[in-house]
Amino acid sequence: MIVTIDGPAGTGKSTAARGLAQRIGFDFLDTGAMYRAVAWACLQRGADVHAPDAVASVAAAINIGFSGRSTLVDGLDVSSEIRSPESSRAASIVAQHPAVRSQLVQQQQRIAASRNIVCEGRDQGTVAFPQAECKFFLTADARERALRRQQELAAAGQQVPLDELIAEQTARDDRDANREVAPLRPADDAIVIDTTPYGAEGVIDLLEQHVRLRMAAR
Ligand code: C5P
Repeated sequence: MIVTIDGPAGTGKSTAARGLAQRIGFDFLDTGAMYRAVAWACLQRGADVHAPDAVASVAAAINIGFSGRSTLVDGLDVSSEIRSPESSRAASIVAQHPAVRSQLVQQQQRIAASRNIVCEGRDQGTVAFPQAECKFFLTADARERALRRQQELAAAGQQVPLDELIAEQTARDDRDANREVAPLRPADDAIVIDTTPYGAEGVIDLLEQHVRLRMAAR
């Protein structure tokens, strides 16, 4: 069974997807980490993130892996590097290139084959797994999303002004929603949840209720 969770940055997708996967005993796939890994590798190698061919060859050359909560590129743990502001910005640029998307979607489909898995990203319910049995699309108020991000960064020792985070978030959302291939949008059969009023556990509770109903109906 495949459960997909899509939505813009900062809606709590990763925490919700990880928590849900743990509660229902499914595997978890963070597809944003894959785009971030490609972006990080491009920055490392001096490849122009705006050049589709250059990015596609980097994506084809690297081996992206996961180990527990860590993301690996060619065996190297890059979990914190891929979360930097530079990698975040570059990730939403490399994610615009169709050849890169198709490589990563194929890898995602291979990873999910014959598993119970929760897949989180932007296009999981629309492109990667249109056949998924249970699809969610999370939204949240823009200011609330930026505040959550600010708290995350503060916990990691970085103080960033809210205005700056809102501007960066808006730019990233615009790129994700307006790109030609796999733009960010809810699948027709997705359950749309506004997470603004809920804490992380509240969101996981809601998702779990929906998934358990689907599981019981199989
Ligand atoms: O989810 P996260 O913020 O880690 O994703 C980083 C970037 O990767 C997003 O801004 C988006 O451009 C891209 N992405 C995507 N498709 C996915 C997952 C992420 O285009 N399935």
